[in-house]
Amino acid sequence: MSDSFKCFKHVGLALDPIHVGTGGARLGRVDLSIVRDPVTKVPKIPGSSLAGVHRAYVAMDKNKYPGCAGQGQPDASGAVGHCCNPNCPVCTVFGFAKGKDSTTGFAGLAAFSDAHIQLFPVTTREGPLWVTSPEQLRIAGLPIPEDVDKDAIYRENNSSQPLNLGWLLLPVETLSNYADIKKGLEKLGVPKYIFDRFGVVPDKLFSHVVNSNLEVRTSVSINPETGAAEDGALFTYEALPRATLLFWEVTCKNPKHFKIGNQDIKAANDKDEVHSIVKAAHPYLEHLGIGGMGTRGMGRLRVLEPNASSNHSSEIEQDAKGKSQGAWP
Ligand SMILES: [Zn+2]
Repeated sequence: MSDSFKCFKHVGLALDPIHVGTGGARLGRVDLSIVRDPVTKVPKIPGSSLAGVHRAYVAMDKNKYPGCAGQGQPDASGAVGHCCNPNCPVCTVFGFAKGKDSTTGFAGLAAFSDAHIQLFPVTTREGPLWVTSPEQLRIAGLPIPEDVDKDAIYRENNSSQPLNLGWLLLPVETLSNYADIKKGLEKLGVPKYIFDRFGVVPDKLFSHVVNSNLEVRTSVSINPETGAAEDGALFTYEALPRATLLFWEVTCKNPKHFKIGNQDIKAANDKDEVHSIVKAAHPYLEHLGIGGMGTRGMGRLRVLEPNASSNHSSEIEQDAKGKSQGAWP
């Protein structure tokens, strides 16, 4: 591993539907759409959103750095928010724009990749099935199957009976490297009830399966003065469904290779300490969530521990079972 940086892989399980929006862009039938990869059209969470929410939660956790939480815009008195101090865990790890005393900007010791869908839950007549594709496996550094070329769902064993993914009926083929992928998922901390129930579809079919199985909800805007629904304020929004697994990487740089205003960085001594500061956000992601619609019970994301036992995931397991019985909203 390089002396200058170290990559940490993370897998997160959506405990609620997650809506990371495009900022008002309207797409087709949905008023508030989520961010997608421009080429594959597969939804994702941008690294900038991940970095922003981690920053806010680390600032909350460290308590002493409220001004370092946001984007550092000047407040009403004209003071710059970020402290830009080499002792500050928030400013050193997440960076800052131009500081007070014209300190030059700093990119931060931790860089976030986009969060990609690793496994996507779909309803089938056999219960929930988590679907992935060769490209999503490649992104997560998992073994890539080479024979996924037919419009089919590839599983441990083939079947003469087709299987439905939502409304789509597909033949079932054998996945040549099923065991290797399963082992890789287990290593990343994916719970057993999920890695025992996954299937692979070709990349172009994956986008179709995901986009036709997103949560789409309808809501109304509430007028804050009257407390009543606004006239004509019915809107729809889409979200990644509960039990979606997301994968992202945090690249942590060696603090010893950087200086802030000619001073050594003291908030972290090495790459692992940078990562420890990032991880302080994880409990907040699980309880306060990411993205919009938090007040509508959305956004909670549990970051899984590599090789963790699957026992603690009973809550979402319940939810997944509920879905197979048609009990989901
Ligand atoms: Zn700071």
